Amino acid sequence: MAIQRTFSIIKPDATKRNLTGAIVAKFEAAGLRVVASKRIHLSVAQAGVFYAVHKERPFYGELCEFMASEPIVVQVLEGEDAIAKNREVMGATNPAEAAEGTIRKEFALSIGENSVHGSDAEDTAKEEIAYFFSGLELVG
Ligand code: ADP
Ligand code: MG
Repeated sequence: MAIQRTFSIIKPDATKRNLTGAIVAKFEAAGLRVVASKRIHLSVAQAGVFYAVHKERPFYGELCEFMASEPIVVQVLEGEDAIAKNREVMGATNPAEAAEGTIRKEFALSIGENSVHGSDAEDTAKEEIAYFFSGLELVG
């Protein structure tokens, strides 16, 4: 498998509980390298654009409000098979179904407040990185 880049968010429930370092440690332990990182506070509208793919879902409004409720940490992670590896380290969307040792199993509060986002494919990874980072910020 080739070296890939993927996009990650440490969500408001996790930044609020001071879990940023604990979550980054999980990525690093899995062989993922943080090649870009910043702490930002989204507006509801900006969260809405990011999650537009879910706009017909019943939880969309609640999800956008949640993502704008506290600061988040947006990151680019790099490594062998990074997109799938990040999803594996994150665990299932619903923490009740997440495997032992995963971020969501250990830290998530609920299916909505589930501590992390990770891109699901190469095209979405590219789009999501470009939404949050300029080329100048991707120093490797
Ligand atoms: P993932 O983040 O694992 O890729 P999805 O893309 O399906 O999951 O959903 C995006 C985000 O929307 C989830 O991470 C979670 O924060 C929220 N979400 C998903 N399903 C629900 C639900 N049934 N109720 C409330 N929020 C949800
Ligand atoms: Mg998703």
